[in-house]
Amino acid sequence: MIALYVFVIAIAGAASHAVPVLDIVPRSKWKARPAAGVTALRRPVPFVVVHHSYSPPACTAPSECEASMRWMQDYHQINRSWWDIGYNFAVGGDGRAYEGRGWDAVGAHAPLYNNISIGVCVIGDWSDTAPPERQLETVQNLIAEGVRAGYIAGDYKLVGHKQVRKGTQCPGDALYALIEAWPHYDSAPSLRVSSTTPTPPVENTETNRIRKRKA
Ligand SMILES: [Zn+2]
Repeated sequence: MIALYVFVIAIAGAASHAVPVLDIVPRSKWKARPAAGVTALRRPVPFVVVHHSYSPPACTAPSECEASMRWMQDYHQINRSWWDIGYNFAVGGDGRAYEGRGWDAVGAHAPLYNNISIGVCVIGDWSDTAPPERQLETVQNLIAEGVRAGYIAGDYKLVGHKQVRKGTQCPGDALYALIEAWPHYDSAPSLRVSSTTPTPPVENTETNRIRKRKA
């Protein structure tokens, strides 16, 4: 009986570690507004760009993270006049990945890199403290899924936003220090935008069709 008990524990333990669970929350679940426009992303992309949200702050419950997604979409579509939430995906402190523009659409998160990368926002302000382990694991699982499914090149390069855009602290010093040790981290990406370099206007043609969602 004891032997059987140990065997069952061993199986359960192996299962929980062997298969990374990736829970991608679709746009419909967090009640995204439709995108005002879409540009198809050519796959596989050679880069992954990591961001933090700074604001909204970290979320831990699914309902909270879903509200954060709506807040970011409002900010990007209404205040910044972009077609949609800027990121391809965001990852919450609840350990779930949230579909932003998704795998197939060009994002608005890093000039020069939007059409050659998947932009992932780690929800929270990670300047002084690191994200919880399960949030970091989900970022890595999401990237692995992108590679497995052919959206991200197998030899992709991983960068933090501030490496390719001068004048931002994103993704925060504490998170950046961690991703420097991740596989595929690129210490010297060749394309960079300085804070004073004019960047092409993005997606400002359709804004008057976007209405504030009812609270
Ligand atoms: Zn950023």
